Amino acid sequence: MTAGLHLGRLLGQRSMQLPFAECFRTIQGEGPATGRQAVFVRLGLCNLACRWCDSAFTWDASRFDLAEEIPDTQVAAIVEQATSFGVPLFVLTGGEPLMHQRKPAMDALLAGLTAAGEVHVETNGTIPPSGSVVELVAHFTVSPKLANNGADTAKRRIRPKALARFAEIAATGRACFKFVATTREDLDEIAAVVDEHQVPAGAVWVMPEGVTPEQVLTTHRALVDGVIARGWNTTSRLHTLLWGEERGR
Ligand code: SF4
Repeated sequence: MTAGLHLGRLLGQRSMQLPFAECFRTIQGEGPATGRQAVFVRLGLCNLACRWCDSAFTWDASRFDLAEEIPDTQVAAIVEQATSFGVPLFVLTGGEPLMHQRKPAMDALLAGLTAAGEVHVETNGTIPPSGSVVELVAHFTVSPKLANNGADTAKRRIRPKALARFAEIAATGRACFKFVATTREDLDEIAAVVDEHQVPAGAVWVMPEGVTPEQVLTTHRALVDGVIARGWNTTSRLHTLLWGEERGR
């Protein structure tokens, strides 16, 4: 049996479903791949509850109808939709996509997407990557949440084992750490996480919080000198500057 046939048979199985929110072609607006054409594939569910989350429709059952927002969807349909754009960069995001990494459906999704391009994963850094995720994902953007997440305890947000694993991957150039900051005090908190978990300075990216262009710019201006002084990188939120909170952008 050829690999293609095998994958096709796998994708057809009923168990090959994942909670799927949306898929769209856009540009990557954050981090080291900013400006690159990409197809975002957004899965459902998250193990955190950040107060400023811009994709709460993927996990917050108190505000959204999750059966409608993140229906269980055949992986074959997700792959077909994602690859139909002809763009060879897929950003697997959420929610927290690594919540699904032990499911055969995730293996099938990664196999289907990597057959058509490169896969980047956006994660909150609480779950150590394993299995086909480690083998097939080209780059991880790890976003540990600070106290400004406003909802989860430090014990829940900061998972040393997972961060140590991602720091190892970052040292090989396959991961970066992207921190959402709101104030200059947040930079001290980032420094503590970076020191404790031995994250290479060159892998640290600080991004301002904000859902409007004005908020992003104002916060970024307040943070940037402190970021430069610490030897880190910084990123804006290009999609927010261009389109504000418009969904599917
Ligand atoms: S970890 Fe990400 S998806 Fe989950 S609540 Fe926080 S911002 Fe939202």
